[in-house]
Amino acid sequence: DDYTLYVEDLSIEYTLGLRRVYALNNVTFGIRKNESVGIVGESGCGKSTLAMAIGHILPQNSVVTSGRIYFNGKVIVDSEMGASFSLRSSKRERRIEESLKMVRWKGISVVFQGALDSLNPLLRVGEQISDIFIYRAEKAPDEARELSLQLLRSVGLDDWVYDAFPHQLSGGMKQRVVIAMAISLRPSLVIADEPTTSLDVLTQYKIVEELLRLRDTFNVSLLSVSHDISMISRLSDRIMVMYAGKVVEMIPSSDFSRARHPYTFMLVNSIPSIQEDISEVLPIEGSPPSLLTKPTGCPFEPRCRYATGSCREPGADEPRVVEAGHTVSCTVLPQMKRDARASSAVR
Ligand code: ATP
Ligand code: MG
Repeated sequence: DDYTLYVEDLSIEYTLGLRRVYALNNVTFGIRKNESVGIVGESGCGKSTLAMAIGHILPQNSVVTSGRIYFNGKVIVDSEMGASFSLRSSKRERRIEESLKMVRWKGISVVFQGALDSLNPLLRVGEQISDIFIYRAEKAPDEARELSLQLLRSVGLDDWVYDAFPHQLSGGMKQRVVIAMAISLRPSLVIADEPTTSLDVLTQYKIVEELLRLRDTFNVSLLSVSHDISMISRLSDRIMVMYAGKVVEMIPSSDFSRARHPYTFMLVNSIPSIQEDISEVLPIEGSPPSLLTKPTGCPFEPRCRYATGSCREPGADEPRVVEAGHTVSCTVLPQMKRDARASSAVR
């Protein structure tokens, strides 16, 4: 198909001493050209693991146990690559690693969780951007400077920022610098893990507008990760809801009120909106499953009031298409009304 990115049956485990953490379990989804997809889900559900796998920056103790990732039709991650991305033990792995160094800046850019701290405090902002053009695109210093200034202007920053040190900039300005660096080599995919988390609400809003504008100007696909559902639905065309390392629902942002997975429904109801009384907000009861065993069937079953005896059977979490562009991994598929927000929604 015409996917920029396609993730197929991806499973990733972390090794912690003798234990294994099943962080991603058989994740499949795609992002089309120019599309913006957002990932939501509770802390620890595997959002960053997925973002790191795509950006090829997984830590040493991770293992890809199944699946592949395709980028513009080419395999960039493959479970047959070996035990770990970073061990670089075989020639084959080294070769893939080398080819990925290119992809990382030219094809896929990652704005990390906590990216603001990734700017070097000792270097002027402009030098850090120019270096990308000099070392990754072999530009002459003068041209690199000109390109950097243009880039800063394209994210709404004035020319003085070029000569500033990171500590002289506000959080929102630093975030713009990081975004500018991420798009510097015209990637076709930008991954943003919690791009606005440490910023105030108004600045967050501006950064979202900025990302959307850049998507249209530079024709990039966006994959963003956040806890903030209202922010991410403004930023994304489709939302992917994750639970315990699995995708439980994929839904167009405009249809979010028609969510069908009991977990998504609870996630939506657990968010306080500005207008409503906080006492009406439902926390999600119970705790997320330990990822020390690989979940079979639906991982949400222990916390789900709609669960039936067959929910833990293998295959119970097969995605079902309920509407165009809307898939749900649930066999029960209850019809849920937004106003059914009562403790009856929780077992
Ligand atoms: P958050 O919203 O808190 O950022 P997340 O959805 O990004 O969470 P991940 O960071 O992907 O979640 O973590 C998924 C699971 O893998 C969690 O159980 C986490 O504890 C575990 N994990 C993450 N990194 C490592 C690591 N380097 N070694 C071992 N386990 C890890
Ligand atoms: Mg994370």
